[in-house]
Amino acid sequence: MNPARLRDTGRFRLTPPQTAQIVEPTTVEELLKVLDPGSRYARPLRPFGALSAATDCNTSSMGTSIGTSGLNRILDVNHEAMTVTAEAGVRVDTLNRVLAEEGLELVGSPEAAGRTLGGAVASPCFGPSIGNDGAYFASQVTSAKLALANGRLLNVTPQQQNLLAAVRMSYGLLGTITEATLKVRPATVFKADHRRVTIGDFANAAGSLADAAVGLKFCLMPYKDRAYLDIRRPSNEGKAGYRTLWAIKDWGESTVLPRLSSSLHKVVPLKGVRFGLIDSIAAATHDMVNTRFVKSGSNSTSDSGRYRAIGPDRIRFSSWCFPATDFGVVLRAYRDFCRRTWETNGYRADLPAIGYRLARDPSALLSPSAEEAMIVLQTMSTQEKGWENFVIDLAEFAEHWGGTPMFNLTRSASVDHARQVYGPRRELFNRVRRQLDPDNRLLNPFLAQYFL
Ligand SMILES: Cc1cc2nc3c(=O)[nH]c(=O)nc-3n(C[C@H](O)[C@H](O)[C@H](O)COP(=O)(O)OP(=O)(O)OC[C@H]3O[C@@H](n4cnc5c(N)ncnc54)[C@H](O)[C@@H]3O)c2cc1C
Repeated sequence: MNPARLRDTGRFRLTPPQTAQIVEPTTVEELLKVLDPGSRYARPLRPFGALSAATDCNTSSMGTSIGTSGLNRILDVNHEAMTVTAEAGVRVDTLNRVLAEEGLELVGSPEAAGRTLGGAVASPCFGPSIGNDGAYFASQVTSAKLALANGRLLNVTPQQQNLLAAVRMSYGLLGTITEATLKVRPATVFKADHRRVTIGDFANAAGSLADAAVGLKFCLMPYKDRAYLDIRRPSNEGKAGYRTLWAIKDWGESTVLPRLSSSLHKVVPLKGVRFGLIDSIAAATHDMVNTRFVKSGSNSTSDSGRYRAIGPDRIRFSSWCFPATDFGVVLRAYRDFCRRTWETNGYRADLPAIGYRLARDPSALLSPSAEEAMIVLQTMSTQEKGWENFVIDLAEFAEHWGGTPMFNLTRSASVDHARQVYGPRRELFNRVRRQLDPDNRLLNPFLAQYFL
């Protein structure tokens, strides 16, 4: 039996919980000493940033968890080379703010800004990026420094493109990123066109959005047959809209809604009434903040604080990528899957699902959209009871529809499917991994399923 498919009944625990030793070095020298094979620290050695991933990719229950938040200096903003160099523990929102003060911004549009630079480089990290210049935060990395499993520091230069492609989205399996240099650009303004449509209408339009060089973010309410689209295009207007309006929109979507949903579960016992209420409140909130509320923005004004406000342990999520050209079909099937699962298993997500368009981007070996443009669909819920079973059903649904998992964001992806989807690129990545970590000191059991 495939262990990834074991259903958690919540009644038995096979092994007693173990805790990792946590170290939080504040200098690269300290970090190298922790990694040194002669050190007293138990393996596996797993780096973590803001711990916002949805899987065990950032934990080490029996070994050592290495926090990078102490490496938090912005080292250089270079207006000539148009780059920024910063240490791994710097928060992406801090980086955004410092760049905005200098009239610059990160290329792309990374959301959920509370994550760390290291975590965002080491995993697929995305947002509603406009155009086809790189779908991920990691795509913009031009060089990096890596603390290796042998306790040495490796400098990856812009000339080492193959190695850089392995380091981007490497999930800490090649070493701990200590600093990275990223491309920046002058701050730009985008127009945001918000629309409310039925899921059927969205499905009909999905094909034409697949290759359009627009930024696409959407919210889906499968039980109400509704979608809210946020389509972004470059704008020539000099004004980026008000940060406060974006902050109110973000607050409505990511703080008010989850908290209200969570509270209604405690005070309204009848499921039908409760979910009716939850859907109506979600629709009213999105009608207000996701239609005409904000019309333009920039990467720094539209910065979302999503999981910071509510805490990663209170919102459960699982994300899958689907080929953008076929997304219309998947969308209808997803709506039917959600309704069917609710009827048969009694579980449904209480928050709207969220999604983005990811341009084709082969800049990382483990890029989920290396071969074609994808749409990422993130199912989110505050409800713990029944969630683990639901994500297993979701994984079966996603695999049936050709979904691509991400090792930091996808729950319960089967090992065979993941290996097949990443195919020769996983092999190539593994070759680099074996060279840099021949004794598997950085592999925890979760990642070993996919990479050993
Ligand atoms: C509610 C919610 C919504 C989210 N929405 C989005 C979204 O819209 N888009 C999106 O992209 N993500 C989203 N995320 C996920 C999350 O922000 C990403 O997984 C993020 O990239 C992880 O950054 P982190 O600093 O939290 O890293 P962690 O979760 O701590 O680590 C992630 C991975 O990176 C590795 N790592 C961390 N630091 C380093 C380092 N210095 N060197 C090498 N490896 C390292 C870890 O070992 C792990 O494998 C969401 C999370 C939550 C909780």
